[in-house]
Amino acid sequence: MSTVSHTRRDAPGSAPPRRLPSPAPLLAQGVIWAGAVGVLALWWTGTASVVGPAGWFTGAGRITGLLAGYACAVLVALMARVPLLDHTLGTDRLARWHAMGGRYTVSLVLAHTLLIIWGYTLTARGGVLHEATTLVLDYPDMLKATAGFLLLVGTGAISARAARRRMSYESWHYLHFATYVAVFLAFGHQLSNGADFVGRRPAQLGWYALYAAVAALIVWYRFAVPVRRALRHRLRVAEVRPEAPGVVSVLLTGDRLAELGARPGQFFRWRFLAPGLWWTANPYSLSAPPLPHQLRITVKEAGGHSAALARLRPGTRVWAEGPYGAFTEARRRSSKVLLLAGGVGITPLRTLFETLPGEVTLVYRARRPEDLALRAELDAIAAARGAAVHYFVDEPAVHSAPLTARALKSLIPDLAAHEVYLCGPPGMTGAARRALRGAGVPRHRIHHESFEF
Ligand SMILES: Cc1cc2nc3c(=O)[nH]c(=O)nc-3n(C[C@H](O)[C@H](O)[C@H](O)COP(=O)(O)OP(=O)(O)OC[C@H]3O[C@@H](n4cnc5c(N)ncnc54)[C@H](O)[C@@H]3O)c2cc1C
Repeated sequence: MSTVSHTRRDAPGSAPPRRLPSPAPLLAQGVIWAGAVGVLALWWTGTASVVGPAGWFTGAGRITGLLAGYACAVLVALMARVPLLDHTLGTDRLARWHAMGGRYTVSLVLAHTLLIIWGYTLTARGGVLHEATTLVLDYPDMLKATAGFLLLVGTGAISARAARRRMSYESWHYLHFATYVAVFLAFGHQLSNGADFVGRRPAQLGWYALYAAVAALIVWYRFAVPVRRALRHRLRVAEVRPEAPGVVSVLLTGDRLAELGARPGQFFRWRFLAPGLWWTANPYSLSAPPLPHQLRITVKEAGGHSAALARLRPGTRVWAEGPYGAFTEARRRSSKVLLLAGGVGITPLRTLFETLPGEVTLVYRARRPEDLALRAELDAIAAARGAAVHYFVDEPAVHSAPLTARALKSLIPDLAAHEVYLCGPPGMTGAARRALRGAGVPRHRIHHESFEF
């Protein structure tokens, strides 16, 4: 372990007012659940009575169908990259909600299908297969809905962790687009067959409005904004600089970059218009505070895309979607901050180390001394702001240290009073969380940026 520490010269106005954790997640969940209650009210106000098993199965089928239709709209809206949602809730939380909501939605769609078929079978007093065939072939929009059902369940299956591990991110990402097609195909049957919509104009208009609003969000934030920005800011690669074995920094230049409103700790999805790279946009955090004429990312080779960045030519055009993420100063609630980095997870923390006001300590872990990328900059920042930076490496073992509550408290005795920003490989961040909790750091003061998808 080596430590560089300087006489503290805390930045002025460093102590933020003591504030409670952001209410944004609870508010967002409240809005989502209120919408679900509204949808249930649609069924309740449209159902005079429920009689017998056929009535109950069909009723349950209608409720699960309504909730599935609503959930599909919510899931798509969560991934529309709406800045307000992204900056307050954070990309990783939105992705977690989307993944969890996806599992519930597929279950709702499966339940809806089985319950409706069974309810209709009991009503018709016929055979299940016959009733199912009649539903698909004779009811309006049901062939499309069936195709949508198969696509949604199929996408759900490939999104299961076990399946996802067996394919590259890109294949999974493009297959996942099938959900948009599935939602589109399933939309019609909801209005043409849904007892809660047939003959109820306000309900139909409300449902059209919900889906149209979500579609508008997607078109605007996933297509229009990135194209407009690419044309306005004309980002280009200025330089590619080696930083450590398998790690390079890419310096980008462009016009009016301040307008992007990027903040330290945030990331963009970068689309490099170079052969073999233009069709994918990968997330990389800013590794230096954004400047009016320059942005910088620092990338560790992890696979095809990240490795190819080392071969980028100056002048290559770049599309930057974003900025995204809530791993910023806005989350800081305490005047004392610990930045805990592992490997290339240093990138957003290097940016925060330079800009966060208050009493900031950096702990940076890597495998070998040569893997401590950006070290000279970190030492210079530490000297300039009078902060402490502690380096740990796994090899040689003499410079290593366990990631435990005791080890961290020996470095920072008043650790429990700190706000913690954490970024690194999953194994390291898992151990770090346990150590921080063991040292008495409250859960809401541990902010984690995951580089995993
Ligand atoms: C918010 C965020 C910030 C990041 N910041 C940095 C950074 O500053 N420096 C850095 O070196 N790495 C960063 N990463 C990780 C980086 O995005 C991946 O290592 C890179 O995209 C890998 O792509 P690949 O083709 O090289 O490797 P692959 O072999 O395709 O992927 C390796 C792993 O990277 C992840 N991944 C791949 N493509 C994507 C994608 N488009 N979106 C999300 N995850 C993907 C997957 O988990 C995959 O298993 C960040 C990731 C996230 C989510």
